[in-house]
Amino acid sequence: MTSTTVSYDTLLATITDPDGRAIPDPATGEVVGRVRFRPVEELDAAIARARTAQIAWAARTDEDRVDLLLRAADAVEAATEPLAELLSREQGKPLNGPNARFEVGACVSWLRATAATTLPGETVVDDETTHAELRYRPLGVVGAIGPWNWPMMITIWQIAPALRMGNTTVVKPSEYTPLSVLALVEVLNSVLPQDVLQAVAGAGELGARLAGHPDIAKVMFTGSTRTGQAVIKSSAETVKRLTLELGGNDAGIVLPDVDPQAIADDLFWGAFINTGQTCAAMKRLYVHADVYDAVCAALVEIAANTPMGRGLHEANVLGPLQNRQQFDIVSRLVEAARASGATLLTGGDPDRTAPGNFYPLTLVADIDNDNPLVAEEQFGPALPIIRYRDVEDAITMANALDVGLGASVWSADKAAARTIAARLEAGTVWINSHGGVHPMIPFGGVKQSGYGLEFGVEGLKSVSAPQVVNG
Ligand code: NDP
Repeated sequence: MTSTTVSYDTLLATITDPDGRAIPDPATGEVVGRVRFRPVEELDAAIARARTAQIAWAARTDEDRVDLLLRAADAVEAATEPLAELLSREQGKPLNGPNARFEVGACVSWLRATAATTLPGETVVDDETTHAELRYRPLGVVGAIGPWNWPMMITIWQIAPALRMGNTTVVKPSEYTPLSVLALVEVLNSVLPQDVLQAVAGAGELGARLAGHPDIAKVMFTGSTRTGQAVIKSSAETVKRLTLELGGNDAGIVLPDVDPQAIADDLFWGAFINTGQTCAAMKRLYVHADVYDAVCAALVEIAANTPMGRGLHEANVLGPLQNRQQFDIVSRLVEAARASGATLLTGGDPDRTAPGNFYPLTLVADIDNDNPLVAEEQFGPALPIIRYRDVEDAITMANALDVGLGASVWSADKAAARTIAARLEAGTVWINSHGGVHPMIPFGGVKQSGYGLEFGVEGLKSVSAPQVVNG
């Protein structure tokens, strides 16, 4: 396959199998393509090939691997339209807005940034008696288990640093979005040497096998806390290195000195990027009573003017929920809010007779902090807005949960916002924005949001074996 000329149909044909599992379009229920789900024996065989390939991959020069990552980035960029179309059909996210084309573009950016990042060894002691150097070696074969919300981008986050540091990789895509990942891997493999990067689709047993396999040195996992706990257990026997990005329930705190109109757009997208299906999206919004009504009104107005619909229609910037399981979670939590007497400012009544997993944008006011829509992660287009009067209460409520991926503080006074940020139990705190990530800025959670940092130099360290040479 030459990626510069690939069409959507050609790309799809390379990854589909007529006898495979039907993968539905979450907007219509139509079959996007069929993927053969592999048995454990095929995963084992892929890991064995990856182990063999790792020796030659690690023996290449760093310049060589950089060059290949850059060429892989060019190949993905050249295939942007077919990749984005497939992603849009399978995941549901629109082509337009911060969605499918944006996600493919992020894959390109992260590949290039990873190629441009270096992790040189360093001399840690050098005196009359001792010379000690700290160097970074590859780990071996890295297993990547990815989610369905940003399937291409998160796969790149997991594999690019691993490849850069001389590891080979075996990817296990989410069973909901295997096509997107298989297509991305196909494009990357138009450049990469054989067996350096492999993807094995399946469901039900591959994840645990990957996490327990003796020839997997490290697992990168993005998904739920519950499955993250299972990954820890599966990997315990072989003492694997782990990077766990387990989502969260991010709080945003709006201070009374804001201009509600000026921040409303950023608040909106901080919560609803990818139709709310984002690990570091804002999922609980704490607003001071002085500006509460104005912030709510501004968000309702934006919601009314933000089109949701099938991803292939260029006008849409919000799509369906990717799967019915997630639709049911959002429905249950919004119903719990309604039953408690909270006010639904907009949304909350999906058309259950229509095709697809569309859930309307839902803004919920006058809601208590212990309501399930606040306390549990909704991972969808429903935002609870909690009123507070004392910022100490807002900080206490923000820190009350057992997760801590991101948080945000919104204020005209950045210094005051930074002071509050220092007290928030979260891996990242944004000031006057929420959820933006950057390939050079470390990203990771605290508490049950997981451990291990991704991106930049820290990301390279996390897929390397530190070695001290003393003498
Ligand atoms: P999960 O978090 O349950 O992850 C499913 C993946 O984990 C599958 O690939 C599965 O492979 C693998 N897996 C299962 N058991 C193990 C194990 N013991 N060791 C290693 N891997 C294992 O995803 P869901 O799609 O079910 O989503 C559940 C919730 O997760 C959502 O409702 C949402 O709240 C959250 N989520 C968070 C995301 C984030 O970005 N942090 C992204 C997506 C969802 P196999 O099928 O082979 O078992």
